[in-house]
Amino acid sequence: MPRSLPKARLRRRLVELGRMYRSDLERLEGETAAIDAGEDDLATLTQGQSATIAFLEKDRDTYREIVAALQRLDANEYGACESCDEAIGVARLDAIPYTRLCIACASDAPTRGVA
Ligand SMILES: [Zn+2]
Repeated sequence: MPRSLPKARLRRRLVELGRMYRSDLERLEGETAAIDAGEDDLATLTQGQSATIAFLEKDRDTYREIVAALQRLDANEYGACESCDEAIGVARLDAIPYTRLCIACASDAPTRGVA
């Protein structure tokens, strides 16, 4: 990796985010387990229950991204855009340390759901 990234700082931030999402996931999993136990028909879910499940799925995705980012850090593959191969700006990495795309590619693909 040719440029020097504030890797220690980014790693701390990723670990911190990972912890946050982990405890959020545990809470949401507890809530959806209660839903699953009572209901087996998706059509009977209340709006609040569907929202909880949607949250859980989104948080799971984000958590996976955080873990993947930590693995990229360890493998020295961190900080390059997966779409155009350009370096992702440090400001963007500070804001979303698990992002896979540079800001240009991210704004090109707003509907892909990749941070
Ligand atoms: Zn890019």
